[in-house]
Amino acid sequence: MSFEKLGLSENSLNAVKRKGFVKPTDIQREVIPRLLSGNKDIIGQSQTGTGKTAAFALPLIDLIDEEMRNVQAIVITPTRELAIQVANEINSLKGRKKIRVLSVYGGQPIGPQIRNLRKGVHIVVGTPGRVIDHIERGTLSLSEVDYFILDEADRMLDMGFIEEIENILRHTSKEKRVLMFSATIPREILRLARRYLRNYEVIKI
Ligand code: AMP
Repeated sequence: MSFEKLGLSENSLNAVKRKGFVKPTDIQREVIPRLLSGNKDIIGQSQTGTGKTAAFALPLIDLIDEEMRNVQAIVITPTRELAIQVANEINSLKGRKKIRVLSVYGGQPIGPQIRNLRKGVHIVVGTPGRVIDHIERGTLSLSEVDYFILDEADRMLDMGFIEEIENILRHTSKEKRVLMFSATIPREILRLARRYLRNYEVIKI
């Protein structure tokens, strides 16, 4: 199975080649076509290092409308290191598409983040606390997001972020698609899914 069969754009296929990816990983084979053409929410059970970032980043890059200025996708990560890593991976895969990605996390002055958000950002990658801070200040609006991605969801729950995640989810549009990635699927994840996901499918790798 090759990347060419997954439905990705020429731009994404070129980006994948430049990255040196020869064939899609299991999670990429499952998630990419579903995100590109399906409409269900997705819970992807996969460990770190399995290529899950590119599994959601490549379809997102194809789906995002670069002409619009609003935030179209939000990725929530448990740590700032992961937020930076995910933003870098998205940037390295966007090819010629003019997609603006911004990572927002605590422990960093908020001013520059606010100025960058004002310029218009398509994908925000952030940690829960700082994302809420921006929502409450009115510097980040998620009312028009099309995609909500929860990365390392089980780790986020272990770190006690459940209330923050539910708070952020309540600020997002009803029409969005939700993708959750998690190494394990404990009961709290299923509870969250039942409450906030629509018709969803679980993909186990
Ligand atoms: P992740 O699981 O998203 O943290 O990705 C782990 C590492 O695998 C990252 O350095 C990716 O750039 C890399 N990677 C992702 N997809 C592929 C692929 N299809 N082939 C080779 N490396 C990949």
